[in-house]
Formats: sequence, C-alpha cells, structure tokens
Amino acid sequence: MTGTATRKSRASRAGSLKEYQRKRDFSRTAEPRGAAKKSRGPALRYVIQKHAASHLHFDLRLELDGVMKSWAVPKGPSLDPSVKRLAMQVEDHPIDYNSFEGTIPQGEYGGGTVMLWDTGTYTASTATDDPEAVLRAGYRKGDFKFRLRGKRLKGDFVLVRMRRGGRPQWLLIKHRDRYASERTDVVERYQRSVVSRRTMAGIARAAGSE
Ligand code: MN
Repeated sequence: MTGTATRKSRASRAGSLKEYQRKRDFSRTAEPRGAAKKSRGPALRYVIQKHAASHLHFDLRLELDGVMKSWAVPKGPSLDPSVKRLAMQVEDHPIDYNSFEGTIPQGEYGGGTVMLWDTGTYTASTATDDPEAVLRAGYRKGDFKFRLRGKRLKGDFVLVRMRRGGRPQWLLIKHRDRYASERTDVVERYQRSVVSRRTMAGIARAAGSE
C-alpha cells in the first residue's frame, strides 16, 4: 500500500518515474535514476536528444508537473507547417535526463548513442498568467500547443494525439510563424551536439575509451 489519501492528492500533480526506473538497470547504464521535481515556475525545460538505438530517432522532452513528458519522433522535427511528424509517446523521464549525453550499453534498454540535439525552455503559445495550467490542459486534451525557446528550434508547435489507450501516438506539427520554413531541413543541418559539438561517432568513440 502506498500511503494515505492525503499523500495521494499531494502527489496527484507530480508525474511518475516508475516505468522509467523499472526499465533500466542503473548499475549498468550511466543514465540518471532521477526523481520527480517541483516545478520551478514559468521557465519550463525543453530538450531534444538524438538517439541511435535499434532505430535512429529524436526524443522530444517537455517539462510538465516535475517530469519530462517524452515522445520518440522517428524522423525528427520539421519546420514546414505542411509536414506532420509521427511522435510516439514514451515513458516520462526525469528532469536530470536533460543533461545526459553518452552511450547506453548494448543489451540495456535503449542501448545506443544519445546526443543532446537541442536544449532550452518552452511555454504556452498564448499569453497567460499560468502557462503550466494552459499546457497541462492542452496535453490532457490531446491538443498540446506550445512555444519553443531552444537554441535551434523556436516558435510555435502542436502535438495532436491520434489514439488513446496503449501507447498514444501523436503528430508533431510546426505552426505557421516567422520560424517556419519549407526549405530548411533542421535534422540535416545540425549534425553535432548543441552542448559538446561532438558528432554521434565522436560521442560513441568517447564512450568506448572510458
Ligand atoms: Mn530514445
């Protein structure tokens, strides 16, 4: 039994990292164990990690209720508002995951190289005194509009939920604004870590020599 009703109601807003922790052996992977954290207020964190697991994908993570809500986007983000990118929701990740770059050992969950591809903050795409409440409502509705303030991605995006039950699938779509572009392929343009400037191969080599 986990605690009283009081404890439950206090925890109801906090995301859970149970699934994240169950899937990983922290004696074998350098990924953080993590803990759900209290929100810091208006500057909610945003990160994208490029992950060469069994299939290359981009992990989009957006802070909500003390955890990073996470989606695996096989083709990565697009700046073209006419393009819809499949985004498969995965388990919530700890906020500490936002600084993880390295290689998860083969045979472990998500084995492969992880690069920090973009980092920054995000907020609601409409003016409001309580962005997190607006974001939470959009997330729950499956019409999750947000504004990125990343080093590489900026402006308004939406995640639209297609299917409920099981593992939800969403579509990631760029909103038409001054950051939209039909010509720029951001995934092609940025081949190096936004933090360490290393390539995927460079990150993998560093892990091999540790
Ligand atoms: Mn991943």
